[in-house]
Amino acid sequence: MKGNLIIISSPSGGGKGTLIRAVLKTIPNIGYSVSYTTRQMREGEENGRDYFFVSRAEFSGLIEKEEFLEFAEVHGNLYGTSIVQVQKEIENGNDVILEIDVQGAESIRRKMPDAVSIFILPPSFEVLRNRLINRATEKRKDLSLRLRNSINEVRQYEYFDYVVINDDVEKATADLQTVISAERLKRDRQTEAIQGILGSFDISKIITLGEQT
Ligand code: 5GP
Repeated sequence: MKGNLIIISSPSGGGKGTLIRAVLKTIPNIGYSVSYTTRQMREGEENGRDYFFVSRAEFSGLIEKEEFLEFAEVHGNLYGTSIVQVQKEIENGNDVILEIDVQGAESIRRKMPDAVSIFILPPSFEVLRNRLINRATEKRKDLSLRLRNSINEVRQYEYFDYVVINDDVEKATADLQTVISAERLKRDRQTEAIQGILGSFDISKIITLGEQT
């Protein structure tokens, strides 16, 4: 059985990183697709864990070799999802989380209509702004760009299957876990297991039982 492709998008500062880390720790059989980016590495980030940090030239090379499931320019940098990484997780039967922007989400939805998409919405613009300011990972100019882009990004919520409002981290984490668990329970996702069970329901067993009593 192949795993689910789970798209998670939110404006920068929406808190998706924290929620995703919590979900990866608590839900079994779930992987994270590490993207490629041309953005500069932030303090505390690790190459290969948070992103594969590459130059623009390297990124162009990867585009030419058709290594990306999707890629987009976001807040002035390039970001791309590696086909190989996603395939590896899905083929192993794991769900895989793609933490990508709204453009990437649209591309994946077009290519893979079975993907599950979740939009993380901050409770207000003010909360988003304060989170970004307190996080202090971006320079002033970049921070304003991210805030400006958030105005259009939040409006894309309507193309997503689910919306998780990230007001309270614990509640939002539980909501995200619920969505992922419920998706695994969908009838079509359980065909193999169901067929195995149904195979055991055999009329000949009833007859045998009757003869024994
Ligand atoms: P950040 O620079 O804050 O890590 O990420 C900026 C934006 O790029 C976020 O919205 C994030 O979800 C998005 N992003 C990260 N990886 C990818 C990717 O592989 N593809 C696309 N389209 N967006 C990505």
